[in-house]
Amino acid sequence: MADVLADIWDKILRYLQKNRPQLWRSWFEQIEPASLENGLLRIEVSERSWQLYLKQKCNEALNEAAQQITGHFITFEYIHSNGHQPEKREFTPAASEDIELFYFSPDYTFGNFVVGPCNRLAHAACIAVSEAPGQAYNPLFIHGSVGLGKTHLLQSTCQAMLKHNRDGHITYMSCETFVNHFIRAIEKGKLHDFRYKYRHLDMIVIDDVQFLSERERSQEEFFHTFNTLYQARKQIILSADCSPAEIPKLEQRLVSRFNQGLVARIDKPDYETRMAIVHKKAQMRGINPPEDVVSLIARKIDTNTRELEGTLTKIHGLAMLDGGKITIELARSALGEESAIQRHHITISQIIDAVTETFNVRMSDLQGKRRSRSIAFPRQVCMFLARDLTNHSLEEIGGHFGGRDHSTVLHAYRTIDKLCDNDENIRATVNSLVASLTQS
Ligand code: ADP
Ligand code: MG
Repeated sequence: MADVLADIWDKILRYLQKNRPQLWRSWFEQIEPASLENGLLRIEVSERSWQLYLKQKCNEALNEAAQQITGHFITFEYIHSNGHQPEKREFTPAASEDIELFYFSPDYTFGNFVVGPCNRLAHAACIAVSEAPGQAYNPLFIHGSVGLGKTHLLQSTCQAMLKHNRDGHITYMSCETFVNHFIRAIEKGKLHDFRYKYRHLDMIVIDDVQFLSERERSQEEFFHTFNTLYQARKQIILSADCSPAEIPKLEQRLVSRFNQGLVARIDKPDYETRMAIVHKKAQMRGINPPEDVVSLIARKIDTNTRELEGTLTKIHGLAMLDGGKITIELARSALGEESAIQRHHITISQIIDAVTETFNVRMSDLQGKRRSRSIAFPRQVCMFLARDLTNHSLEEIGGHFGGRDHSTVLHAYRTIDKLCDNDENIRATVNSLVASLTQS
């Protein structure tokens, strides 16, 4: 019987992996199916956040998978194996009964956060605060533009703090929720309750405080909440899309409160960090894309991390429809719609022009037989760019460079790709060639 259950569960997992790759997480492999009786499948997980993720995000997909596999409708129950009554400490709704259930994302942990020069200070401060709330940096103010990991860090801090101190009282909310609670409390004449709730917290974490901009009464209330908690040495963590002083129409006294602890900025991730993030996200989804796909994504998507992740999801989704294998061709075509290729119709002769100018070589050299480094290297760069920026096959590209065969082009591509990973100057040169070709 147990074998039958294990078998069904395994098939459900494979179904999810194939049909709902965006939901799939590698920790699914650790889930234990506990029993299957009368159409009720009970599964057990060791983390509270996993339980909620399954219940809130995956229930429908699990029903569908089970239906497909067994031909019956199956209801799921998700059991948290070593927890009881955890709600109390995980969310403290303030002066409101009809509050949406909040849960921390199991994706947003320190373990899943990639540290690089762009976020090192913010990350270190969050770790310190999670270990000694109210003592290390108070308040901690994290800022950076959208999609750079503020919410991820804030939630990681909460989850880590709860690991150290299971009974800790935390409120994590967006500033918008805070403002809405406040307005509702005023309307219902429950301001007293509202204030009371915030005084019994060990840590308050408010995401996106730029939302306070121009909201004068909320600012006033926030100021008092802040002071009460601060004086009681409770930890306060805030995030915003800009520094305190840059938040438009924010009262000066709040600006100075926000500045009084540690202010840490998160910048855009550099190439290495982007590579590491794509690797991390792939690992979380239990996939192992080839290195050239990872570096293609990291090179093409350099603005925000959310987009990096979205691109990987898209490529993974396409691969699942197409046999499951992630290939560079597939990645290129997935990126194609948004990338320069379609928009600019870059030709090989444009690439040759740009490269001859940059490296001060002649076109006839690139197409000839000479193998000295001063010629071979620019030639390899040409092949690399031709493969990345045009839709020509390897054979066609080889044809443009003195009739070289496809393995030579592939070798050139890999060589330059690797050099871009390891050598900052080469990467800068290649990036500026790409930029000039895609802009012209
Ligand atoms: P923000 O709140 O700053 O707008 P998020 O925290 O929502 O950004 O991050 C957007 C996405 O990027 C999330 O999926 C998050 O996990 C991911 N992300 C951002 N920075 C990192 C990082 N350093 N390591 C891993 N994932 C990251
Ligand atoms: Mg956010």
